[in-house]
Amino acid sequence: MAERSGGAYMHNERPIRPEPDEIPKIKSAMRVARIMKWGTRPVSGLMGIVVLLIAVNHPWYIAAAWYVGILSPLILFGRLFGRCPRCGKTWGSQGPFRLFYESEDETESMVCGRCRLDIGLGLRGP
Ligand SMILES: [Zn+2]
Repeated sequence: MAERSGGAYMHNERPIRPEPDEIPKIKSAMRVARIMKWGTRPVSGLMGIVVLLIAVNHPWYIAAAWYVGILSPLILFGRLFGRCPRCGKTWGSQGPFRLFYESEDETESMVCGRCRLDIGLGLRGP
């Protein structure tokens, strides 16, 4: 019983301290997550306008293909590099996909929504 209270069963209380080798990964992943958060909003807004202009003279599916073709590399970039080094969860709100489901925002909570890795501690580390 004594080892159970040691800390392996924490869920919502205390975040997990990152390992030293995870700290640089946390820093770069959080940088990408922030770029995704603040970068995709103006880009998707601008693309909305461009797509509307395309849709005036072209079939809707051409406009939709433009939208997907420009936004998906951005989202892929965030998915590949803005991930938790421990559990692989993509951090931050999912740009335009936030419209479809409410996701946790690690750029605000500073704790990984899946494995409770302490992101704030990783950013402050050496
Ligand atoms: Zn995690």
